[in-house]
Amino acid sequence: MRVAIIGAGPAGLFVGAGLARRGHKVISVERDPGPAADGSWPRRGVMQFHHAHAFRHQVVQALEQELPEALQRWLAAGAEPVRMRLPDGGEIPMGVRSRRMTFERALRAAALHESGVQVHCGHAEDVTRRHGRAHGIRVDGTDLAADLVIDASGRAGRVTRSLRPAPASGGPCGIAYVDRQYQLHPGAEPGPLMSPIAWQADLDGYQAIIFLHEYGIFSVLLVRPTADPVLSQLRHEAAFSAACQAIPGLADWVDPARSRPITPVLPGGPLLNAYRGQTGPDGHLALPGLVFVGDAVATTTPTFGRGITTTVLQAQQLLQLIDEHGTDTDAIGESFGAWCTEQIKPWVDDHVHMDEATRRRWAGEDINLSQPLPSDRILAAAEADPSIRAATAGYLRMTSLPSSLGAVEPRARALYTHGWRPSPAPGPNRNELADIVRMALHRSTAPVTV
Ligand SMILES: Cc1cc2nc3c(=O)[nH]c(=O)nc-3n(C[C@H](O)[C@H](O)[C@H](O)COP(=O)(O)OP(=O)(O)OC[C@H]3O[C@@H](n4cnc5c(N)ncnc54)[C@H](O)[C@@H]3O)c2cc1C
Repeated sequence: MRVAIIGAGPAGLFVGAGLARRGHKVISVERDPGPAADGSWPRRGVMQFHHAHAFRHQVVQALEQELPEALQRWLAAGAEPVRMRLPDGGEIPMGVRSRRMTFERALRAAALHESGVQVHCGHAEDVTRRHGRAHGIRVDGTDLAADLVIDASGRAGRVTRSLRPAPASGGPCGIAYVDRQYQLHPGAEPGPLMSPIAWQADLDGYQAIIFLHEYGIFSVLLVRPTADPVLSQLRHEAAFSAACQAIPGLADWVDPARSRPITPVLPGGPLLNAYRGQTGPDGHLALPGLVFVGDAVATTTPTFGRGITTTVLQAQQLLQLIDEHGTDTDAIGESFGAWCTEQIKPWVDDHVHMDEATRRRWAGEDINLSQPLPSDRILAAAEADPSIRAATAGYLRMTSLPSSLGAVEPRARALYTHGWRPSPAPGPNRNELADIVRMALHRSTAPVTV
């Protein structure tokens, strides 16, 4: 088949290369020109590109199965696969320490190496139609005919927005973050960790997270309510540094004796959870002959590092369905839509519920026991009832759907009903952090707006 793909991010590259390896002729249209000759890659239009990413083991598995060359390139660029020790003494692969830029460079280079893939630098303006079906894409005024059009334009893609006007689930989640990359000094030991790829502290009114990357590089994230005008000032270096030094655990990581910052503080855009399936408002395929994949289908807040995993899982499934259904693009769209509803939407719904509860908790509300418990509250309850922990592994590794936590939800609920609540991690609460921010800005030359 001739396949036209809108976007050459992780979804477009993975699917494009996979299709080319199967003998299809692929053109992927991407408005970003790719890395510059000096190696820099501003990647405007993909706001998260320079922000923290954690990579789960599913990403390695997907590359091993579909694009081993990309995996080789990723590892050669420094990506560090890590394993987790189990209580019984065994070990399992856990994920990969890497920056997003390192991952995407490797994937892009491997995809460009496939002879059946052409990545064309341009702006996809529209999906062209014939007899009510997708017939190709219009790129900077020129029509490219295709047997199948794939929209891999990410969470911010606009070309096909009118076909699926509103997300079937989710929307802005009221949570935002800032982050900054640091690098350990040569030979320096890492700070505290909760897993081989991350450390996290749930403080009173906000969160602090560390994601580890390659070569001792790590990202520090401070996660807060979007509507908090004082904590939004954490984007200023003085406020960010003062906050990091005040939070136990984080302070160990950013100790100048251990590490140094290697980027400015990077303010993130508004976070959202959104699921947009394959169908339009009437419940039928949004446009026969057009399939959506990656963040164009599902986007989740990054606190659990799930987006690239849901992207590669979708990409693998789509490739399998194209193998199965050949040129029957309606069957491909319908089967893929059903699979996404079953396997991907639950992750978005999980975040919608969890993030809404987090936002309310940060605003001072108690847990709402008239609703199912959000997943993170079930996980937190393992602190008081360790028998809960055994049932959480599949959810945490994304090998079981969020509904798997239903088995232990009643046990967690019993704890909350009897008044137990998780203690916030040690460190300043939201109001104390706001004072730290104000004082830091007052002492610095940054504009004081709080
Ligand atoms: C703040 C943040 C942090 C994240 N952290 C993590 C994490 O820790 N772990 C994790 O697994 N996931 C994370 N994610 C999710 C991950 O970044 C996404 O899942 C991933 O980028 C999805 O890939 P994609 O190819 O679908 O979309 P994108 O990466 O958005 O790529 C879409 C591409 O389409 C191109 N494009 C769009 N429209 C057009 C057009 N009209 N013409 C031409 N080109 C077009 C864009 O330029 C872009 O290159 C995070 C996301 C955010 C927002």
